[in-house]
Amino acid sequence: MTQEDRKQAVNTVVARKIRVFCRIRPMSKAELGRGSSRVTERLDDYSVAVDTPRGLKEFQYDKVFGTTSSQEDVFQDVRRLIQSTIDGFNVCVFAYGQTGSGKTFTMVGDKELKNPGIMPRAFRAIFDIIQENASKFHFKVSTYMLELYNERLLDLFVFPADAVGKKIEIKKDKKGLVFAHGAETKEAASAEELFALFQQGCANRHVAATSMCRAGLHRDPVQWFGFITLVTVGTDVRSLRHTGL
Ligand code: ADP
Ligand code: MG
Repeated sequence: MTQEDRKQAVNTVVARKIRVFCRIRPMSKAELGRGSSRVTERLDDYSVAVDTPRGLKEFQYDKVFGTTSSQEDVFQDVRRLIQSTIDGFNVCVFAYGQTGSGKTFTMVGDKELKNPGIMPRAFRAIFDIIQENASKFHFKVSTYMLELYNERLLDLFVFPADAVGKKIEIKKDKKGLVFAHGAETKEAASAEELFALFQQGCANRHVAATSMCRAGLHRDPVQWFGFITLVTVGTDVRSLRHTGL
């Protein structure tokens, strides 16, 4: 397939509900220091070649971001999804990959937040878009944060010691909207407030767990409108060992 053919193939399935992106991170200093060599190559916007023990294999995605892709590049596509949330759709962005592959960097950013990732950018975009539509709609933003740890859902807005005794159940409301029953929900009036809540939730997290932050828009205190759910999967085998698992 040529790049043009692939682009067309992607466009014809634009209405598809699930899209899978691939991001290749640059090699780390440690990897370079060990003399490791790169085994992945971005061939074009939609394909990546991987040098496997069984030979060169090619994989196709809805989009491939190479080692030089910036956090802004990756966010371009997500911004459109946030607009969808404002339009009343429920959106989920899910980062999956082995430890050290770049999930946290992509979703949250680097430690000093010099390179903010999808979450802080999404928080800003939510409030920017609300602001742009302020004359047409009045929205409120609420959020809850959960962690899947030892196959249990824990509330990240509750102190870890108290979270263990609290039962959170995934339920569906009358309209079929999935929600976490029993989760502490907090309102945020700005991107900064939303980010502060997110950081508060992160502080209660277990290192190796899968965590999600869901920000929802509602038109009045009870009627949820659209959700954006941001999930980072934990696959950190080393830290699982540290916690004695
Ligand atoms: P994970 O959360 O999947 O375990 P991290 O996001 O912590 O992985 O990434 C591992 C290391 O690689 C971190 O030091 C991170 O800053 C760095 N890193 C990941 N992706 C990139 C990238 N695209 N550009 C630069 N550094 C990156
Ligand atoms: Mg991580």
